[in-house]
This record gives sequence, structure tokens and C-alpha cells, in this order.
Amino acid sequence: MNNYQTVFLGLGGNLGNIQANLQQAVVLLQKAVGELITQSSIYQTRAWGRNEQPDFLNQVLCFKTQLPANELLTAIQTIETLLGRKREEHWGARTMDIDILFYGQECIHTPTLLVPHPYIAQRRFVLVPLVEIAGDWLHPQTQKSMRELLFECEDKLEVNYLAI
Ligand code: ADP
Ligand code: MG
Repeated sequence: MNNYQTVFLGLGGNLGNIQANLQQAVVLLQKAVGELITQSSIYQTRAWGRNEQPDFLNQVLCFKTQLPANELLTAIQTIETLLGRKREEHWGARTMDIDILFYGQECIHTPTLLVPHPYIAQRRFVLVPLVEIAGDWLHPQTQKSMRELLFECEDKLEVNYLAI
């Protein structure tokens, strides 16, 4: 039996009924990935990298999983597809993007998987929800907490709490 890992998943979308898609993603992830430990609030953010597209809604979820990292990636890609995601342009508009932010404290470098996700420290829309649910969690490469990373982050994009 595999040990349980604490994993953080970053969800985001900017097409269709995003709140409904986020709710559906949580249901599907609980079935495929394991026990949901915590979920952040939903945040609204301007599109990162490109700004001629609709705002994003973002959320971070924490699970306990027994899936190895490569199987976790397959599971989240299946759920992205179920929720209507087509393989679109990089950083383009999408119905649902699910990224593996952290897989325990492991550092994974394969052709299909980079964990921790390489842009965590540059993105307020990831750090703000991470701080909400796991401010003391340490980045395994820098040993900085999510709170410290947010404090140091130079991303100026507004990340607004979305009341639901
Ligand atoms: P992005 O999230 O960068 O906008 P995609 O969601 O289209 O782009 O993902 C492109 C590829 O990124 C995936 O096919 C996957 O193999 C790879 N990938 C690498 N590291 C990760 C990670 N930590 N989480 C999710 N996908 C990842
Ligand atoms: Mg992705």
C-alpha cells in the first residue's frame, strides 16, 4: 500500500459557468484522487500572461491521495477533459485547468511533470489561496512558507475574494 501524500491542486477557468465547473471538479476529484482535506475560497483574477480574455476564477484544493504523481496527472487530465477542456493554446482561455502545485515535499522532474509547479512563487492567484489554507506549508526547494512567498511576490495582478 502506498503512503498517503498531501497534495495541493490549483484549479482555474475563464470560460463557461466557471463556478459550476469548479464545484463539479471538486466532486470528480474526490472520487478520483482521494479525501478532500481543505478547499480555499474562490478568487477572481485578471488573465495572467495575456489580458485580452475573460477574468479567471481560481481555487486551491488540498487532498490526501494514494495515487503516484504520474497517475494523479492522468486523473486530473481526464477530469479537465470531462469538464469540456480542449487542448487550446498555451495560456489561452480554458474551461478548466488543474495543476499539481505540490506533491508532498517531493521534487519531480520528468518530461510530463514538474513539481512543485514552477510558477508558484510568481503568481498571486496561486499564493493567495495557498496562504488561506496552508500559510505555513514550505516550498521544498526554497524552504520558504507560502506566507513568505506571498509577501515577496512581485506579481501585481489583483486577486479578489469572490463571495459565494
Ligand atoms: P498550463 O497549465 O501551463 O497552462 P496545460 O494545462 O495545457 O498548460 O498543461 C500542459 C502540460 O503541462 C501537461 O500536459 C502536463 O504534462 C504538463 N505539466 C508539467 N508539470 C505539471 C504540473 N505540475 N501540473 C500539471 N501539469 C503539468
Ligand atoms: Mg495545466
